Amino acid sequence: MADDQPRPFRLDADVDPGEKRQFRYEVSETYLGDPVEIPVTIINGEADGPRVCLTAALHGDELNGVKVLQEVADRYRPSDIHGTLVCLHVVNVPGYQAQQRYLPIYDQDLNRSFPGKERSNTAERMAHQVYTRFVSQCDLGLDFHTSTRNRTTMYHARADIGNPETERLAEAFGTNVILSGEGDAGSLRAVASRNGIPTITVEMGKAHRFQPGLIEKARTGVESVLAEYGVYPEGTVIEPEWRKVMGPGEEKRWLRADTGGLVEMEWGPNPLVHDGEAICTITDHFNTEERVVEAPFTGLIVGVLENPVALPGHPICHLVRISDETREEIEREISRGEFDGYRSYGQRWMADEGDAE
Ligand SMILES: [Zn+2]
Repeated sequence: MADDQPRPFRLDADVDPGEKRQFRYEVSETYLGDPVEIPVTIINGEADGPRVCLTAALHGDELNGVKVLQEVADRYRPSDIHGTLVCLHVVNVPGYQAQQRYLPIYDQDLNRSFPGKERSNTAERMAHQVYTRFVSQCDLGLDFHTSTRNRTTMYHARADIGNPETERLAEAFGTNVILSGEGDAGSLRAVASRNGIPTITVEMGKAHRFQPGLIEKARTGVESVLAEYGVYPEGTVIEPEWRKVMGPGEEKRWLRADTGGLVEMEWGPNPLVHDGEAICTITDHFNTEERVVEAPFTGLIVGVLENPVALPGHPICHLVRISDETREEIEREISRGEFDGYRSYGQRWMADEGDAE
């Protein structure tokens, strides 16, 4: 077959070029011996091109990506597509059913279990099915996550920028902030990228919610990737006003509480904090003692506590240092009212209705 001919996507059965198929794919069994099945959409374009794997809910309570994939799967037809879209709508089905991060019972982390093994624990067996049947057949990967529960995260991508192909993918997705690093051992992103399938993680907002502003941004990010690689030639590649790539060597710090008590966030509405500014105060229940947690340097808050009580050692926020140049660009954006993507983020503006744009 010539290289530029569209090919079937082979599972146990083929999804032929020009075909859009929605089905469930068995990756495990319940105690009752019933199948545990991932909802899958495969859109195999009429024309040849890259195969893009989109995954959501590897952590079962991280829902924003589930909504992104529903919209992506609904949006494109085989006649639009040069290549193939593979959407694994909910990868960690048992965690999703329980609305929890890990696989229930043994609390195994599916996103530390790749590429998996055929004969191993439950998580590695599931990861093996997902990896061999779907991920390994693709050319690019987008894996959607949110913060863990009781926290929220700024909209950003995580990617190994040391790899030019992964850098291209991360830039095409169009977030302002990219955290660069190889990723945790056994994560889908790290394993796929190392095996020649550039894959990025998209971090967006909080668990247990649909946040429409972020979902819309991510959907346009997917389209930007599809445009960049010619999978959806009618799409537009996003060119963000500014981009900050934070390498592994750059200063990132989890600020932690030193006292137990009630947390009141002081920062916002933007996640830009200057050296010495108050990020939050922690008071005792009689409101007689107050401790202020200050920014140790000027930076962006990329992750933050939502649960309003803390104890010593509890993470308050994840702060990443930025250069003066980036700070000035962000301040210009703030003054123009264009600090988009963060509006949904400020702690006091985190009520769900505030996420709609
Ligand atoms: Zn996650």
